[in-house]
Amino acid sequence: MCGIVGYIGTKQAAPIILDGLSKLEYRGYDSAGMAIYDGGKINITKSVGRLKVLENLTHGGETMPGICGIGHTRWATHGVPSNTNAHPHYNAAETITVVHNGIIENYLHLRQMLTDKGYQFVSETDTEVLAHLLDYYYRGNPLETVTKVLHRVEGSYALGILFADCPDQVFAARKDSPLVVGQNEDGCFIASDVPAILKYTRKVYYVDNQEVVRLRADHMHFYSVDEEELTKEPVTIEWDANAAEKAGYEHFMLKEMYEQPKTVTDTLMPRIKEKDIVIEELNMSDEELNSVNKIHIVACGSAYHAGVTGKYVIEGLARIPVEVDLASEFRYRNPILEEGAMVVVISQSGETADTLAALRESKARGFKVLGIVNVVGSSIAREADNVMYTWAGPEIAVATTKAYSAQLVALYLLAMKFGKARGKIDSKLFASLLGDLKRLPNQIEMLLNNKLKIQKFANRYIGAKDVFFIGRGIDYAISLEGSLKLKEISYIHSEAYAAGELKHGTISLIEEGTLVAAVSTQPDLYAKTISNMVEVKARGAFVLAVTCEENKEIEKAADYVIYIPETNPYFTNSLAIIPLQLFGYYVAVGKGCDVDKPRNLAKSVTVE
Ligand code: GLU
Repeated sequence: MCGIVGYIGTKQAAPIILDGLSKLEYRGYDSAGMAIYDGGKINITKSVGRLKVLENLTHGGETMPGICGIGHTRWATHGVPSNTNAHPHYNAAETITVVHNGIIENYLHLRQMLTDKGYQFVSETDTEVLAHLLDYYYRGNPLETVTKVLHRVEGSYALGILFADCPDQVFAARKDSPLVVGQNEDGCFIASDVPAILKYTRKVYYVDNQEVVRLRADHMHFYSVDEEELTKEPVTIEWDANAAEKAGYEHFMLKEMYEQPKTVTDTLMPRIKEKDIVIEELNMSDEELNSVNKIHIVACGSAYHAGVTGKYVIEGLARIPVEVDLASEFRYRNPILEEGAMVVVISQSGETADTLAALRESKARGFKVLGIVNVVGSSIAREADNVMYTWAGPEIAVATTKAYSAQLVALYLLAMKFGKARGKIDSKLFASLLGDLKRLPNQIEMLLNNKLKIQKFANRYIGAKDVFFIGRGIDYAISLEGSLKLKEISYIHSEAYAAGELKHGTISLIEEGTLVAAVSTQPDLYAKTISNMVEVKARGAFVLAVTCEENKEIEKAADYVIYIPETNPYFTNSLAIIPLQLFGYYVAVGKGCDVDKPRNLAKSVTVE
C-alpha cells in the first residue's frame, strides 16, 4: 500500500533508493527500511517513523555500500509499526530478502505450513511468510523460486526481492498493487509509483498482474507467472513530478475516489472464505454473536454516517437493535449500556479524540469494544478489545471517500455475520448477498467512469447558495454523507433531511431553482420519496434524483436522474454515494476551492 523502490546498476544503490522513497512520502507510511547487497552479504537497516530517521541512520545511504538493493515504506496492515515488523524481511540465513506492499490473504495458512516445517517467524507481518516461502522453494534458480511462491500466495502484492546468491539480479512482481520498472544508462529501477523514478527515466513499464521482472544492471526481462518470457512496451510519462504523485489525477480526492473499487475489494475479499464470512478479528463464537442484544455504534463525521447506514443494515439483516451516536455526544450523555450490549467505534485515523474517549468510557463500564479502524497500531486500534481493519490504505485528502466506502463494507460484513449466526439470514439469501457484495467493486468503477456527466451537471451549481439532500431509511444515511461531501469542500450550505421531515420545516427554504438531491434506492419507499420530490418541485426546486435502474417512474418527478446498477437494497449506499462524491468534488473544483485541504479542517481530529 505504500512504497517500494529498488535499484541495480553502476551507482551506489542506497542514496537512490532513499531519494525514490522520499518521492513516495505523500502516500503516508509508518516505518521504512532498506536491504543492500554489499558485495558479500545483504545488510538491512530499518526504522520506525519518518524516512528522515532512516536517512540519518545511514547518512543519506552513504553507510550502506553496494550497487543493488530494495527499499520500502510500510503502511502497517498486519502487526503494529515497529522495527521488527518493518520491511525488508529475511529468511533465517539472511540470504533472501523481500519488500512487499499489499496483503497476503492466506498468510495464516502459509505461516502454519512453514512453522510445521521448522521455520521460525520473528515478525507479526503477513509479509514474512514470503521470505520463508522463497527460502523453502529456493534451489539455485531465483526466477523459478519466485514464480513458485506466486502460485502459492493469495491476496495483493507488489514485491521487490533480492537473493544474496544472485547479486547481479533483483526481482519484482505484482498482483493488485501498483508497480512500475524503468531503465537508464546507469541501471534499472523498481518503484511502486512513477514519481520515485521520474528523475531517472521517463520511460516506464507498468508491471501487470502476475508478472515477474528480472532486473539486471543493463537490462530487464519480463515473465509470466509460468516463466514464459513476455515482451512489453514502455510508456512515456508526460506529467511533471507533482502531478505524478497523484498518478495523473488533479487531486488526491479524485485519485482516492478512483481507488474505491480496490478498497472495497481489499476490505471484503480477505473475509470471504469458501462462501462464508470469516472475521477472525471479531474473536466471537456464534454463541457470543447470539448473545448480543444491542449494538451501540459511536463515531464522528463521515464515519458516523457510515454508522447510520450500519444501523439500517444490521437491524434489517440481523434484527438486533442498533443505536448510533456522535462520539462527542455519547461521551457526555451518560449513555445507558446494558448487559448484552456491544460497542462499535468507527474511525479512519484511529486517533479521533471523541471516539477514543467514547471507547474508553465504554470499556470503563465493562463493555467490549470493537474498533473499525483504518490505521494499524493507532490509539483506537490498540485500545479496542478487537479491531476490524478497513484496508483502504493511506488517505491523503481531508474529505474521506475510500475510507468511508471501506467502513460501509465492514459494517455489511458484520451485519451478515450476525444475521447468519442468529438464523436471520437463510443460506439462499446469504449467497445472494455475497454475490451482490462481490459485484460492488465493478459497479463502483462503472459509476466512476460516468464522471463527465456529473461534472457537467455540477458545473451548473457552482453558484448555488443552498442545496438539500433528501431520502428515507438508508437513503437518508446516504443523503447525510452526500451533503457533507458537498459542503465540506465547496463551502456551499447544504443539509440532509429525512424526506418525510421536509414538511416539518425545511420546505419553507425551497425557492425557485433550489437544488434538491433526492436519493431513492429503496424499492419499498420509491413512491413515498416521489411524493416528496413532487412537493419540492411544486415550490420551484430543481430535483436531481439518484435511484436504481428499475425505478424509471421517477423520471416523471425529477428534472435530472442518475441511475445506479442493481444490488441488494441494503448495499445501495456503496453505489449511490459515488455520484454524490463526484458532484461535491466537481462543484468544489469549479469554484476553485482547495479540494484536498478544505479550510479549517484537519484529516485526523485529535482534539475534542
Ligand atoms: N501487509 C504488509 C505489512 O503489514 C505490507 C504493508 C504495506 O503495504 O506497506 O507489513
